[in-house]
Amino acid sequence: MSKFAEVAIALPVDRVFHYAIPEELQADMAVGKRVFVPFGPRALVGYVVGLTGTADVKDVKEVRSIIDKEPILTEEMLKLARWMGRTYFCSWGEAIEAIIPAGIKKGKVELGTRLKKMAVKAAEFPPSTPHVLNEEQSRALKSIVECIDRKEYGTFLLYGITASGKTEVYLQAIEHVLKAGRQAIVLVPEISLTPQTVERFVSRFGHKVAVLHSGLTPAKRFLEWKKIRDGKAVIAVGARSAIFSPMKNIGVIIVDEEHETSYKQDDVPRYHARDVAEERARLNSCPLILGSATPSLESYYKAKKGDYKLIKLTKRIDERLLPKVKIVDMRMELATRKRLAIFSKVLLDALDRTLKNGKQAMIFLNRRGFSTFLNCKKCGFVMKCKRCDTALVYHFEERKLLCHYCNYKMEPPDICPNCKSSYVRYFGLGTEKVESEISHAFPHSHIARMDSDTTAKSGSHDKILGDFRTGDTNLLVGTQMIAKGHDFPAVTLVGVVSADVSLNVPDFRASERTFNLLTQVGGRAGRGEDGGEVIVQTYAPGHYSILAAAKHDYEKFYEEEIVARKELLYPPFINLVKLTVRARNDDLAARTAQRLAQAIAAETKTMAVTGPAPAPIARMRGYFRYNILVKGKDRAEMCELLKKVLGKFGKPAHVLIAVDVDPIAM
Ligand code: ADP
Ligand code: ZN
Ligand code: ZN
Repeated sequence: MSKFAEVAIALPVDRVFHYAIPEELQADMAVGKRVFVPFGPRALVGYVVGLTGTADVKDVKEVRSIIDKEPILTEEMLKLARWMGRTYFCSWGEAIEAIIPAGIKKGKVELGTRLKKMAVKAAEFPPSTPHVLNEEQSRALKSIVECIDRKEYGTFLLYGITASGKTEVYLQAIEHVLKAGRQAIVLVPEISLTPQTVERFVSRFGHKVAVLHSGLTPAKRFLEWKKIRDGKAVIAVGARSAIFSPMKNIGVIIVDEEHETSYKQDDVPRYHARDVAEERARLNSCPLILGSATPSLESYYKAKKGDYKLIKLTKRIDERLLPKVKIVDMRMELATRKRLAIFSKVLLDALDRTLKNGKQAMIFLNRRGFSTFLNCKKCGFVMKCKRCDTALVYHFEERKLLCHYCNYKMEPPDICPNCKSSYVRYFGLGTEKVESEISHAFPHSHIARMDSDTTAKSGSHDKILGDFRTGDTNLLVGTQMIAKGHDFPAVTLVGVVSADVSLNVPDFRASERTFNLLTQVGGRAGRGEDGGEVIVQTYAPGHYSILAAAKHDYEKFYEEEIVARKELLYPPFINLVKLTVRARNDDLAARTAQRLAQAIAAETKTMAVTGPAPAPIARMRGYFRYNILVKGKDRAEMCELLKKVLGKFGKPAHVLIAVDVDPIAM
């Protein structure tokens, strides 16, 4: 009998705590169960991660009670959590907290308790049967199946253009896994944006699928979790956190659209689900399939190096051609028209043609609102958020100026707050303005707009897409929300109002994001019989990410981009850790950041420390922010060093330090 329990607690303390196991709890104690333990003046929920005969301190306290009848965490999940702690700069307990569903976090729900049976929406999709695979698909499936049968870890990068049959390969790999009595996890970027992908899994496997989406209440999520744990559901399809599904015998893990940034969690623990998936596949000795039409630089680099197995699907199933892309140089438009126009003549003509032919068009601009800033013509004053260092955006429907970072709202002023002149003007454009301009230009069209303003209400999402599908609306204006997943056969035209929005962001991934977005929106055109056309407006028509996207040439883009990454020493050549130091007092934040950067640099010879520099948005929600970037080869090593430095760093009160491993935004 072990006398002590090793307990992890969800606090930012990088150690486990020892508690004595009282006589009467001996029989019930087990690794993976939750316990109540005294911690300072409080009692906290802890996770038993080990049992031991000796304690690391003299006056050990006792475990108060055991919460679970059955362990809620398997050895494998505990190992995964520990790996996360080491990789993503958090404690073992914080990582455990992240991997169990919210419903059981507080220690309230017991696994033995019978929950009121709730009607989980049954599979209402027509069943589908497997297709006979084409040659490329067969080859892909064969190497994946071999890996499954060998019970070996291996990561496959399934790089295939849209509609090349990737999903069908996933489905058949899963079928193979189920026959062997094992289970599967499928990650999709965001359920609400990828309904058609999710539908494919439910159609094929029916009630065997548990769909985990963010719209579930904690209780429902817990029910799905339990269904998986009890083996009633053998396939989990969901966003990021579905990677923590409590499967016991995983045969394959799939990450669809692996390049998507939504796989990165922006709160502690700041994990990347794709990388967690890789670790989980390793722990389960099973293959991981990463699928994408535009792989992340990281993944493609690993595939080229041979760390991943590269599988290419080069042909579209129906052999339909990719849409023609036309780049419009807006500098020329400006020169010929003598005034700033939102739409080029080319785009207007194409819209006109599309509507006359009874077809549909999508108009993309990755920025919401009406005017993106309010500017005084006389003194140059720009209305900024009181708490963030960003221009306020005018929203026409609300008739308010809005901060896109903290949601601060104010009435737009009639006179300049600075010089009291009345020359305040609106500049810049967002989706609201695009919608309004189009309705002027095409008064007989039926326009809908889809962005986070119009989809705030539940159900509005489906309504907008439904109306577009039936043809009740024929023009759809939107942000990146309209970029992916949707298949509308009558869409023959996609217009990109400005490709420059994502290009001009101060982030080393700006080019990659622009390429991905353009490829994705472009892919919305010509899904039907009539083919399609894409028109991209830009002030940077020579930029390689725009040129490569126009030619549907991922490889070309990769070759250009990888050179830049290497030169500037960015991922995938190194790993990046971003430390953000923030405080309400600018000077305090700056000085602390300076001191921290020096402290890190003093401890290492192998890692490069850059900064501190003001964050791209130097002030947010009233906090002044400074970034320090650490570049190194090994994440765990970097975390260990940073834990050491921060452990003895005299951090002033009122200063906050956030550590982000593999940051996805600067
Ligand atoms: P991707 O995931 O690469 O976009 P999908 O797997 O969704 O591609 O395939 C595109 C379309 O082609 C789907 O409607 C799918 O049902 C169909 N399909 C896939 N593979 C085959 C096949 N071998 N034979 C016939 N149709 C197929
Ligand atoms: Zn002024
Ligand atoms: Zn703000």
